[in-house]
Order: sequence, then C-alpha cells, then structure tokens
Amino acid sequence: MQYVEPSRHRVDLRGGQLLAASGSYEKKLKDLDGLYADTAAFAAAVESHGEEIVYRVTDRKPESAHGDLIFGVTRMEPGRIGDEFYMTRGHIHARANRPETYYGEAGEGLMLLESPEGETRIVEIGERIVCYVPPFWIHRSINIGDNPLVMSFCYPADAGQDYDVIHRSGGMRSRILAEGSGWREVPNADYRPRGPGDIAAILATADQ
Ligand code: ZN
Repeated sequence: MQYVEPSRHRVDLRGGQLLAASGSYEKKLKDLDGLYADTAAFAAAVESHGEEIVYRVTDRKPESAHGDLIFGVTRMEPGRIGDEFYMTRGHIHARANRPETYYGEAGEGLMLLESPEGETRIVEIGERIVCYVPPFWIHRSINIGDNPLVMSFCYPADAGQDYDVIHRSGGMRSRILAEGSGWREVPNADYRPRGPGDIAAILATADQ
C-alpha cells in the first residue's frame, strides 16, 4: 500500500492564501458578468477596473478523488457594484449531497444559501466562525466588510461544482444590498423558481 504523505499548511492571513497548495484560481471583475442587478454599474466598473481580482482560491487537491478531501483558502476583496457587494459566482455541488465547511479567518462576510425549492438561509461569518453548508444547498459568499474576507474551506474531493445552477434560475432568490454600515436582503426580481424536473435532477445527482 502506497500511502499519501501527511502535509502541513499554514494559512497566510495577509495574503489570504493556503501555503504549500497544489493549485489556485482567480476571478476578475470582468468574469462576474450576470451577477449584479445594476448592469450599467457593472459595465462601468469593468470599463474602469475589469482586471481587478475579486477573489482568489488556493487549495490542496488529492490525486484521487474517492473518499478524500479538498481544502483551501479563499480571499475576496471588499467592493460594490451599485448597492451590491462583491460576491462569488456561487454553486451547488455537482454531486449535490456533498457538504462543505467554511471557517472565518479574517473580515466579515455572509454565506447566502438556497435550497433547490428556493428556501433561503443567511449565515454571518466572522473570525473563528464555522459555517456548515449541508448537502443540497446552493451557496455563495459575500464580502460585506471593508477589508478582505478570508475563509478556509473543506469539502469532499468528489463533490464537483455546478456553477450554472444559479444562472438557470435567473440568479439566487435573494440579493444582499448594502444599507448604511450593514446589509439587507431583498427579493431578486429576475428569479425564476425551479420546477419539479429541475429539483428532481439536482436530487438525482446524490451518491453517483
Ligand atoms: Zn462548495
């Protein structure tokens, strides 16, 4: 039996990254088309700073997905498009019954969660807060603070990501808007609830 070697990884808070990671990716502002209600504000922002990196993920992925874990660190810059904060594209796991944890390392954020049937939950994340994303919840993180939001995360290596699930329903059911120094939740006017077929298709991805 050839065992995988244990490893040790420091979370670099200032850089918002996992050291000794095996991979990384980043999303620039121009990559986040379609997320924001204020399309004119988005277009203007892309024009002026479309190359800005909004979030970067560093992670450690195993060579074989079966039964293993992926873990890493995400760092999201503070910022707004119109009244909406910088946020991730969001996803549901391709095998939708796979869960995830997020741990607040620095900054202030929200995890916006939505069930296939369209129920919404919001989990506030700060330093030393663990957010549990249970099986079958669509999830998106949002930086509601003035500083980078840094979180570490962990999920099953065979989870995969379906990023299109949000696009297919016209966005998530709720939008989070800046209000004063805080935030408020408002309905997304473009949202189209999933039908029974769409919901069944999500549920059918479990345990494949
Ligand atoms: Zn996830």
